[in-house]
Amino acid sequence: MDIKALMRENIRNLAPYSTARDEYQGGEIGIFIDANENPYNNGYNRYPDPHQKQLKARIAQIKGVDPQRIFIGNGSDEPIDLLFRVFCEPKVQNAVAIAPSYGMYKVAAATNDVPLREVQLEADFSLDADKLLNATDENTHLVWLCSPNNPSGNLIPAETVEKILHNFPGMVVLDEAYIDFADRPGFLNRLDEFPNLVILQTLSKAWGMAGLRLGLAFAQEEVIEMLSRVKYPYNINVVTQKLVLEQLDKPVDAQIREIVSERCRLTREMGKLPLIRQIFPSDANFLLVRVDAPRELYNRLIDAGIIVRDRSRIRGCEGCLRISVGTPAENDRLLDVLKNLDA
Ligand SMILES: *Cc1c(COP(=O)(O)O)cnc(C)c1O
Repeated sequence: MDIKALMRENIRNLAPYSTARDEYQGGEIGIFIDANENPYNNGYNRYPDPHQKQLKARIAQIKGVDPQRIFIGNGSDEPIDLLFRVFCEPKVQNAVAIAPSYGMYKVAAATNDVPLREVQLEADFSLDADKLLNATDENTHLVWLCSPNNPSGNLIPAETVEKILHNFPGMVVLDEAYIDFADRPGFLNRLDEFPNLVILQTLSKAWGMAGLRLGLAFAQEEVIEMLSRVKYPYNINVVTQKLVLEQLDKPVDAQIREIVSERCRLTREMGKLPLIRQIFPSDANFLLVRVDAPRELYNRLIDAGIIVRDRSRIRGCEGCLRISVGTPAENDRLLDVLKNLDA
């Protein structure tokens, strides 16, 4: 598969901005007067490493992936935007995404003036691979999948993803923002099998670093190299690089286990309430629940100081609210409020 041929010509030919620190190739330097920085050290006076070498080495170790196959972005928003910019000629090439799914695919497509074709998931949020493949044409360069999917919470079966990867001759982006909460592995260790696969992950969910803004893309080296050429040179600031390195040393496995067990408890307990009509099976850290009067319930919860996400106006999610799993105490409080509303 010729991935370069899928890239926009202007991007393929792009000479990236070369930073002061790119031109310096190691050695014992004591005086940095190459970047017009303020020379007085306050902890932040120097530009960050544009290649995030230390951070990539650590993430490579944690994820078991080559550092050359890692792109680090300012949240997942950055690689989402860059993938459109690299692979889709505005107004000419298109992308196909599942729906309902994460809202940023549509926003990034629209800002890049790339037509986005949405393939509606079935009523139970399962994906018909043939339906998706039929929505692609010779101008489709990107397919967007999200597994576990937001807002439905379900994992796309591996065979479905494999079928799309094998049969679509363009890039397949698989957003695995919630994969750490699933009981099955994702596709990260299968990059060798699928040259057209791009996996997105994030430190915003399981890793508990939403405030630091760090998103990850994993793909073949030539894709990573192109994303890196197009990104802002210093996209990850000094503070984020430093704090993320520190936080990555603090294991989150116990928190993930508790969130998953709390998700099961919420499913069980909410299932007993007549108010809740349907709870969709979730492999993520949230539950999509269907009720008769979603807006009214949303407002009653607000009155009780609890904010959930109203997804009821989204096609396929009629009547649905999306509820993130909180701490055990927060979940207790939610259940109490729901029980009282039910009474
Ligand atoms: C939360 C979420 C992300 C993460 O976005 P960040 O910009 O990394 O915080 C990515 N994809 C999906 C589907 C999400 O729900």
